[in-house]
Amino acid sequence: MLRVCVFCGSKSGDRAEYAESAEQLGRWLARGGHTLIYGGGSTGIMGLLAEAVLAERGAVIGVITEHLARPELMHAGVRDMRITRDMHARKSLMHELADVYVGLPGGFGTMEELFEAVTWAQLELHARPVLLLNVAGLYDGLIRLLDDMTEHGFLSLRCRRLITICSSDEELQLALQAIPGQSC
Ligand code: AMP
Repeated sequence: MLRVCVFCGSKSGDRAEYAESAEQLGRWLARGGHTLIYGGGSTGIMGLLAEAVLAERGAVIGVITEHLARPELMHAGVRDMRITRDMHARKSLMHELADVYVGLPGGFGTMEELFEAVTWAQLELHARPVLLLNVAGLYDGLIRLLDDMTEHGFLSLRCRRLITICSSDEELQLALQAIPGQSC
């Protein structure tokens, strides 16, 4: 079984597909016996994802900082909530707990976390897969940017391939299933 670290938005966005994909992933993780590692929030895509796992009695570990650990932000239903001193400690702990990283729709926070994971893979500090779910074309522009960086010599093909882009929920599930060392 996998410990899947999901980076995603603290807001829900403006399209139903964003929420639907988060809920679909949450249900799939719980039914497969996988553990969700996430930022511990109750709002936006983060909250919807955690609720979908909890609704199926799945395992969730929240990792949140002291400054975000307020009742209006932190998910009250997550029993295993780890509270860290700052953002650096938070991300360190998320990395320590994770077998694989998944990016869902989100904003700056999601991008920063996802690109830290991929940068560390580029530096060979870890070999964990990094998957990005491109829901409803949200990340089309980002994918073009990655391709331009590759074309213009800032990203090697090896590094470009460190992020696996998934275009549907099913593709994401297949990519997770293909990760060695787990049996779903
Ligand atoms: P964004 O993609 O900009 O919405 O940011 C998502 C990231 O922002 C999370 O992983 C956290 O680092 C942080 N964050 C923002 N709001 C919250 C919240 N309510 N609970 C936990 N983390 C949050």
